[in-house]
Amino acid sequence: MDRDDNHVYQYILNELGTSGSRDGPRARFKGRIPPKRLKKAIVGYVNTYIKCSQCGAPDTHFIKEDRTTMLKCQACGATRPVKL
Ligand SMILES: [Zn+2]
Repeated sequence: MDRDDNHVYQYILNELGTSGSRDGPRARFKGRIPPKRLKKAIVGYVNTYIKCSQCGAPDTHFIKEDRTTMLKCQACGATRPVKL
């Protein structure tokens, strides 16, 4: 995954409605997070910021267009705006 770790982590914290801390590459969450919820949050992240909405390929990257960040698909060339 070619993504900023911290961004992923912040998104997941938001989704779970919890706080946590990062200890190097390991993420810690406050309280007990059921693995199912964690998985759902990760899937949500993937769908929002990684998967191409056109062809479903995960081969995407962010590009900057003016002040908008776009997600560009390497596979089919589709772009869509993403909110970071
Ligand atoms: Zn695509």
